[in-house]
Amino acid sequence: MKKLFHWLGIERRTEYVDEYFTIANFRSSIYMSIVIIVLELWMLVSLCYRWFTGDDSRTIMWYFEHLVWYLVFLFTAIVMIRISVRYLKKRGNRRLGKLWGTIVMIFFSGIAVYFGISISYSDYIKGEQILCFAMMMIFVVGLLNWRPIVSIGFTGAIFLFFYIMMYRAPEVEMSYATEVNFFTFWISVVMLSLAVYHQRLAEAEKDERLEFLSVTDELTGIHNMHYFRETAAEAIKAIPDKEYILLFMDISNFKAYNEKHGFDEGNVLLRSVAGEISECFSNSIYARVSDDHFAVLTENAGAKEKIEKLQKYVAENHPNTRLKLKVGSYIPTDPNEDIAVACDHARYACSMIKKIYEKDYNEYDKKLDDEFRLKQYVVNHIDEAVEKGYIEVYYQPVVYAKDKSICNFEALARWNDPVYGLLNPGQFIAALEEYRLIHKLDRKVLEIVCRDINSHMGVMNKDVPVSVNFSRLDFELMDVADEMDILMTRYKVNKEYLYVEITESALADGEGVVRAATSLIKDKGIQLWLDDFGAGYSSLNMLKEFSFDVLKIDMAFLRNFNSNAKSKPIINSIVQMAELMGMRTLVEGVETSEQAQYLTSIGCEKLQGYFFGKPKPLSAYVQEEVL
Ligand code: C2E
Ligand code: MG
Ligand code: MG
Repeated sequence: MKKLFHWLGIERRTEYVDEYFTIANFRSSIYMSIVIIVLELWMLVSLCYRWFTGDDSRTIMWYFEHLVWYLVFLFTAIVMIRISVRYLKKRGNRRLGKLWGTIVMIFFSGIAVYFGISISYSDYIKGEQILCFAMMMIFVVGLLNWRPIVSIGFTGAIFLFFYIMMYRAPEVEMSYATEVNFFTFWISVVMLSLAVYHQRLAEAEKDERLEFLSVTDELTGIHNMHYFRETAAEAIKAIPDKEYILLFMDISNFKAYNEKHGFDEGNVLLRSVAGEISECFSNSIYARVSDDHFAVLTENAGAKEKIEKLQKYVAENHPNTRLKLKVGSYIPTDPNEDIAVACDHARYACSMIKKIYEKDYNEYDKKLDDEFRLKQYVVNHIDEAVEKGYIEVYYQPVVYAKDKSICNFEALARWNDPVYGLLNPGQFIAALEEYRLIHKLDRKVLEIVCRDINSHMGVMNKDVPVSVNFSRLDFELMDVADEMDILMTRYKVNKEYLYVEITESALADGEGVVRAATSLIKDKGIQLWLDDFGAGYSSLNMLKEFSFDVLKIDMAFLRNFNSNAKSKPIINSIVQMAELMGMRTLVEGVETSEQAQYLTSIGCEKLQGYFFGKPKPLSAYVQEEVL
């Protein structure tokens, strides 16, 4: 039964499919109208010709009647084109356009069929062919997509009416063969319209499915980012006075949840969060961005409560893993704002609190905006900075604890920008790492250091090695050992004058690549130093795995040096441990003579910090005649 109903088109069609048919019909109507306009103009011309050449076989009434019909048909075709074009170009009220379009389309079809019938009938009476009827029938039913039940009823009624008319026609008798042909013709017209309808329907449904997939996130069933960007931009534009807020959400600790419970359970979690988002923000635009990230555009008023409700859901419904929903927000200020940039702002606000356990909501404000712009600036201008010499190297002295004489320098990058002025590494390293551009900076720093070693050593003949910082990503993005070879050869730098500093987090995250590269560096006879020891988590194991020449103890241990009684024993035991393992020690961040004295007393070999000198450009040392 359902199949039969489907076959007859007695079923609810989705809005999308309905629209598909409306558009197809409007399009066909335009073609049909053009044909009709040409035809009717031709008929009008021939009518005039007949009138002026004085064919008196026709009465005035005949001329008048035909003129009126031609004009009505012509006018209807013009109206039909206008309505169709407006609808297809999405102008005016769409609902009204569709209603008027349908009314005119039916009227238009009615006239077409009437013409077909009347002309064919008079031909038939004259004993001639009935081609016009057939043509108009196919014209109306074959080109326009009626539901099959409508086509069957519509054509059935017309055929029956025409049949009765012909049957009763006084002059000609209808033969049996004509009757059969007539019936077969009706069936064929019905079949044709059915075939066209079902083919269109299949196309519409396929399109709908494709469209659905293109805007839907497969995993969670809510919308995807493609949809979000389009609709959010439209929404902001549509009501400029409404205050919207854009939210970017990130489930912190989701990776751990996935590892603990498995991938499938992770997916279940994402689906449940998506479900809760669609409940909390039912009248808003929301989507899954990627992985465990979601975006929402909602009215600012009342948003805070909804966010809290959602955060509560995430925290309370998964008690075995400590999950938190971190939310970054941004309030768009301009209705024409680029939605991708707005999303970036909310995402940035969210990323800022990723590692802060107590904070789970962050608004994009002026301070963040400045940071964000600087970050974009850094990423977009690193090539220019390298090329135009904005990258500079400052040197901070490292001294021997025993006599406080300089044993080496640490090279620290600075970006002397024409717009922003002097930038510290804290303002550009993270952005360059995030966008995997850090090697451009570090290669340049290495080159400047080699150049400086070459120049000042040549002139002053002083033996002052320099340690250079490398990021974990450098080992992925360039061949560090090879670069060192090239630059050291070019600037004739001896292997004793360059040390490599890498942080312990570099070793933890990128073991394979870093391990290979560092052993190459060590094989060359270049010293390898472990920077910021103790700032991360996994320090001790690392010491076993890699062989470092110097352990740089992080300056965090010197914080609260006086007030915290545990600071001293901790540093002391690290120094002892390093000694036992055959490593030399350096403590960073020495700021007072008291710290220096203590560190010397426990046998720490080298010291570095503002107490002995801040980082300065090479020229400052040359002026002071240190070098
Ligand atoms: P780091 O390698 O641990 O360098 C020491 C940082 O501590 C430097 O900051 C230095 O100015 C600062 N510092 C030194 N003594 C003291 C002190 O007594 N008190 C205080 N409060 N701070 C002191 P800077 O120059 O801002 O560099 C920050 C970080 O940026 C560096 O930490 C290093 O990890 C990174 N970095 C610097 N230059 C480069 C570079 O060329 N490449 C890469 N990849 N990273 C770099
Ligand atoms: Mg360092
Ligand atoms: Mg350090």
